[in-house]
Amino acid sequence: MSMNNQGRPTGTCSAGAAATGSSLLPNEPLLFEIGDTEHSGVDLPDVEIDGAFLGGFERRSEIDLAGLTEPEALRHYVRLSRLNYSIDSGMYPLGSCTMKHNPRLNEKMARLPGFADIHPLQPVSTVKGALRLMDELAHWLMTLTNTAAVCLTPKAGAHGEMAGMMAIRAAQDAAGQGHRKVVLVPESAHGTNPATAAFLGYSVRSIPARDDGTVDVEAVKAALSPDVAAIMLTNPNTCGLFEPEVIEIAAAVHEAGAFFYCDGANFNAIMGVVRPGDLGIDAMHINLHKTFSTPHGGGGPGAGPVVLSAALAPFAPVPFVRKGELVEHVEGQHLGRITAFNGQMGMYVRALTYMLSHGGDGLAQAAKDAVLNANYIKARLERAFSVPFPGQPCMHEALFDDSFLAGSGVSTLDFAKALIDEGFHPMTMYFPLVVHGAMLVEPTESESKQTLDRFCDVMLELAADAKAGNAGRFTSAPTRAPRRRLDETRAARLPVLTWSRPEELPQAAE
Ligand SMILES: *Cc1c(COP(=O)(O)O)cnc(C)c1O
Repeated sequence: MSMNNQGRPTGTCSAGAAATGSSLLPNEPLLFEIGDTEHSGVDLPDVEIDGAFLGGFERRSEIDLAGLTEPEALRHYVRLSRLNYSIDSGMYPLGSCTMKHNPRLNEKMARLPGFADIHPLQPVSTVKGALRLMDELAHWLMTLTNTAAVCLTPKAGAHGEMAGMMAIRAAQDAAGQGHRKVVLVPESAHGTNPATAAFLGYSVRSIPARDDGTVDVEAVKAALSPDVAAIMLTNPNTCGLFEPEVIEIAAAVHEAGAFFYCDGANFNAIMGVVRPGDLGIDAMHINLHKTFSTPHGGGGPGAGPVVLSAALAPFAPVPFVRKGELVEHVEGQHLGRITAFNGQMGMYVRALTYMLSHGGDGLAQAAKDAVLNANYIKARLERAFSVPFPGQPCMHEALFDDSFLAGSGVSTLDFAKALIDEGFHPMTMYFPLVVHGAMLVEPTESESKQTLDRFCDVMLELAADAKAGNAGRFTSAPTRAPRRRLDETRAARLPVLTWSRPEELPQAAE
């Protein structure tokens, strides 16, 4: 790699100092603004290409990529990465998302060539070690949940929900119960639950939450009818509370001939302590990327295996590993595949590494520490913040509402933005929907007491300042982030994903 082949020295590109300086600049230019399409970053000989050789597929127009040298391109991406907030740079108290530390041992194992370099189309006889790892992971998941089968392949929690609900539908179709078209969903549910049910053609019947944030077995019984296929219940629920009547709810659901789908994304609060199969659940997805560490969000792909009870096991999607062999087809009732190939191998390796390095007792300890950390935050903050469900300990996440901000001119959004200026990623805001102006804080087990104290000190200082009438600090926040407040609706609805020449743009996109 050298300077570009036009002899243009690096560093004199159009964006000038912004592109070449080493300082952290908030306005990192685009690759197209750093380089230009007239130059190339590498020395390539001119070649005459005979068009006929490409069978009519030869490019007819310029490729229009910015020509950059390797260091120019590398520095652009490193500078961008330094604008990111990440779990490796600070605490990430995002409730429901479980942003826990991903031990580096996981990464080391996932990069072993025998796992990292295999190809999904390689002969099965050459990937026996990978199959054994999948088998072992399946064994751990079934043991921790006391269930009969697991489908590893779903690529996210929501995908696992879909696989589990498809298994429920297949079982009901096979039993002549295909007329069941209603799914019960508590109003505190994660949005993916009603979305999954609706996506599969079910109609959703909402179950109200009790004043204490939990689901009432009587309300479930009142909603059950012969057209109900299943209930989708999250436990621990999205208010961070363990559902105390979960066993009674499971019994009532089964009595009505329906299945119990449990959203297990919060399994990290109870793993090794409670086995969901013992509570009567029939299907539950587990977010490997939350419960068993592994990076997610901007940090990598997820994996949402779904465990199934004995009643649903015959309807588990393929493929799965049985006695060391990959089962890709089963005669009879099976759903077939729900993904191409065999799922997220890298996530399987990371999750099993986490399990094996903790052991069964260590996983239970991690769950208990996550719960302890959340309760520590709740105890330190609850006098200054308002707690929607007072008087009960929380599980792995502490929930606050916005009534402590009443009259201050500061909203939950403003408060969260002010936290950015203090160096923390904001907590989850406005979720669960059943709580007004919700702030959901999940520290996870991996934060030290010192970090929790620093976070609580900042939260308390902010709360005091909001109550003291200093609304401006909040409404103008963030002031120390590379970007202030974005038009998130416009970003979601009208994303600008391709570069256009400035003269082709009707107006500059933010
Ligand atoms: C994260 C989460 C999901 C969805 O998981 P994805 O991997 O993001 O699809 C579902 N339910 C709950 C309670 C969650 O926290």
